[in-house]
Amino acid sequence: MDKIAVFPGSFDPITRGHESVILRAIPIFERIIIAIGENTEKKNFFPIEQRMAWIRETFAGHPTIEVTSYSGLTVEFCRKVGANYILRGLRTSADFEFERSIGQINKRLLADIETIFLLTTPEYTALNSSIVRDIIRHGGDPSDFVPSRIKIS
Ligand code: ADP
Repeated sequence: MDKIAVFPGSFDPITRGHESVILRAIPIFERIIIAIGENTEKKNFFPIEQRMAWIRETFAGHPTIEVTSYSGLTVEFCRKVGANYILRGLRTSADFEFERSIGQINKRLLADIETIFLLTTPEYTALNSSIVRDIIRHGGDPSDFVPSRIKIS
């Protein structure tokens, strides 16, 4: 059976931290589906089409990577696309506590799913999308924090 992973997230916008986790996961999985969750309760900064376009640009030339969006439960999306793994990144112990409960609940909802965590590399531990949004909101230059192929001004 092919190892297919879903990497769910908001990617608002994608950062070098996300990019690093995904690049390091490429050798582990036959396919990685980067899936932007359309969460009606969460107010997003960038439109979903823009977020998907940036992720596509970042991974152009990586044939095992796909980009899409979904609504509803992540495990239902995984079932629909035949994925047996959920990929997530871990930065801090706060991430761990948060991810542990989601991972354990997802496993209860769909027993065939395993959540796989990759540790962030030290230089990206402090990085998150909300910091990048703040830089952009206040007219700063985010280019050191987003993948080199994407241009946000
Ligand atoms: P969510 O809204 O689901 O938290 P994000 O887009 O913020 O979505 O994050 C998606 C995943 O990427 C999470 O597993 C998160 O831990 C991971 N991630 C975010 N920033 C980094 C980073 N700097 N280094 C490694 N992983 C990260």
